[in-house]
Amino acid sequence: MRYSLFGKTGYNVSSLGFGAMNLPGVPLEQAREALNYALDHGINYIDTAAAYRNSEEIIGETISHRRSEYFLATKTNKRDYKTAKEEIERSLERMKTDTIDLLQIHYVNFVKDYKQAMGEDGAYLAALEAKRAGKIRFIGITGHRPELLARWVSKGDFDQVLFHLNLAQPFALEELIPEATRQHMGKVAMKPLSGGFIQPVDKAIRYPYSQDVNVIISGMVSVDEVKENIAAMEREVGDLERAELEQLAHKLGEHNCRRCNYCSCPLDIKIPDVMITSKIRDHFGLLPKGNGFYERLQDKIVACADYEPCREKPLCEQECPYHLPMASVIRKSIAYTG
Ligand code: SF4
Ligand code: SF4
Repeated sequence: MRYSLFGKTGYNVSSLGFGAMNLPGVPLEQAREALNYALDHGINYIDTAAAYRNSEEIIGETISHRRSEYFLATKTNKRDYKTAKEEIERSLERMKTDTIDLLQIHYVNFVKDYKQAMGEDGAYLAALEAKRAGKIRFIGITGHRPELLARWVSKGDFDQVLFHLNLAQPFALEELIPEATRQHMGKVAMKPLSGGFIQPVDKAIRYPYSQDVNVIISGMVSVDEVKENIAAMEREVGDLERAELEQLAHKLGEHNCRRCNYCSCPLDIKIPDVMITSKIRDHFGLLPKGNGFYERLQDKIVACADYEPCREKPLCEQECPYHLPMASVIRKSIAYTG
């Protein structure tokens, strides 16, 4: 595993970060074991969010006694000063700590959200106040619109940025990562497996590991998963392997969906999941998780083809900032529903 200086923070962070998002779904003892194993084996970056059910409490309960051994990152998805301030206080309590190393303004995908969070009465002010009071050390931002994030971080208000970077979503490489590098920010990639659709784990982890990021957050819930993720980072990525992974990412990213979630479907079709897996399934066939996903979606995909309000102009496509042809991708998916 590699360690690198995390932007201007002065911390040397491990290239693998423990994503604690899914810990609320497993028994507390299993979470305790996984987190402590991770700390014992060199992981020193723990990422969670106030919005991840009781994930912060699990961290407080299981590893707060080892607080000096990890860089602690959490998030607030509040946009206004008052509720963000309350949430920061709650996060401190839940994680049983006096200081959060990094507070990220969470899931900023819309310009209006950014403006509100950065405005006079916004969440950023609450973060800044907490920073001045020593309750947090650094402020970051997360989102699913890489080109908007690139523009926002160029203003110099943030110490870190968190974005998607995986074999099916290589888009942060275009503008965001170079801009974050220019700003000397901490760069954190999330969802290396794109929610579990990309396999093998080794390849999926090694792609972001081959790129200019400090930390790759992988959502882990067991000692075995921690071991598997650490193993994928045992060797550095050579030039040849990097070129192969980049070529693969170019292919698997042809769908162009950023998972911004601007689109919605009255039939409740998970449009970004279909879009993002579309090239994976075309090139490699489906993985077990993908099979189950498409089987569950079968009736809805069939219904999409005849859905009257979308006949002339698909409702979802009217929302997509990238003007993607979602309806035709979804309708073609029928071939994969078994
Ligand atoms: S075209 Fe299909 S996926 Fe898009 S909104 Fe209509 S029913 Fe949903
Ligand atoms: S299909 Fe378009 S609107 Fe929907 S998540 Fe992807 S990029 Fe965003």
